[in-house]
Amino acid sequence: MKIVSIKTYAPRAPLGKERFYSSQCPFPQRNSLLTRIETDDGLVGWGEGGQYGPSETVAACIEHVLAPKVIGRSPHELGCIWEELYGLTRDFGQKGTYVEAISAIDIALWDLKGKALGVPVHNLLGGAFRDSISGYATGCYYRGENAFDHKAELENLAAEAKAYADSGFKMLKIKIGLLSVEADIERVAAIRDAIGPDMHLLADSNHAYLAPTAIRMGRALQDFGCLMFEEPVPPEDHDGYRTVRNALDIAVSGGECEFTRWGFRKLIAEGCVDIVQPDICASGGLSEFQKIWSFASAYGVPVMPHVWGSGVALSAALHALAAMPLQPYTANPIPFQNEPVIEFDRNPNPLRDELLQETIVLGEDGRVSVPQGPGLGIEIDESALARFCEG
Ligand code: MG
Repeated sequence: MKIVSIKTYAPRAPLGKERFYSSQCPFPQRNSLLTRIETDDGLVGWGEGGQYGPSETVAACIEHVLAPKVIGRSPHELGCIWEELYGLTRDFGQKGTYVEAISAIDIALWDLKGKALGVPVHNLLGGAFRDSISGYATGCYYRGENAFDHKAELENLAAEAKAYADSGFKMLKIKIGLLSVEADIERVAAIRDAIGPDMHLLADSNHAYLAPTAIRMGRALQDFGCLMFEEPVPPEDHDGYRTVRNALDIAVSGGECEFTRWGFRKLIAEGCVDIVQPDICASGGLSEFQKIWSFASAYGVPVMPHVWGSGVALSAALHALAAMPLQPYTANPIPFQNEPVIEFDRNPNPLRDELLQETIVLGEDGRVSVPQGPGLGIEIDESALARFCEG
């Protein structure tokens, strides 16, 4: 079986009035970069990468640099292919665009390998510990025409948070960092009031602060019973991470802007984080994700993959989490405490909701089922994909 073609697609879905903000930027659209790899016996595998920045640069890496090295190879050699692609681009691509491009190829190769063998990807990763994953909602961004005026949005924010609790989620991750600490504390208070004391609450600043401000914010988050403070400081500021972590009683997490086992080695071994969050579609694909969590597990650092993209990204994360052991083992697994959880982004995203023939949804029990078909176990709606790629 030989790979005969690698195509890239850059779907985008404008959000219009549903535009929202994190601390770093507005999201006027959802976009991503998908790869479609076909073999000479007609099998097709799908991968994803490049959901963070411009997809065109990731597509260019694949089309002009990486794809010619993969055409003619067998998907069964995916581990060899990863090492060769990384070795080829190491001198100029250790982080960012090239690693995202390798991720998109790698995920499609795992999909192909599973389809060729007639087994789901989680089987290839060592077998499934579970057939569903507890989902946590990611939401409560800065929305609406009054995104920068928190008082005008408090009522809508509280209603959004309550809707997540009402729809079965047991855990919610919210945004902080766009506004002043004082304004954001009012937002967190409104959310905690809306969801009640029992729902787990996590907060993500997307590296909005330097350490002193992060510590001030983190102490307030502790008072609201938050369990985790995600990306308190810029990803390069490892000293800042350690300072914040040493000052707070809640878990400090990060890693969505880190890449490969070498990047995560520093974040983990230098004691920067309590929880590490590689994005499978950015940090090196499923092959590299296995190496990152192996390394993290040796340091007693649990892994909670960052998930942000289309249904392809979501399915890849579900397979990886199905195959991830308890962190650590107990006879009674408890989500977030020692059982892996999946990030279930609830912001508007037609690429997540309309690109797969069967949309991945939250079950009534607050868990997300792991696809069971061969490969990633998903089917792309190619007419929907063509629609998102127009213009
Ligand atoms: Mg984040």
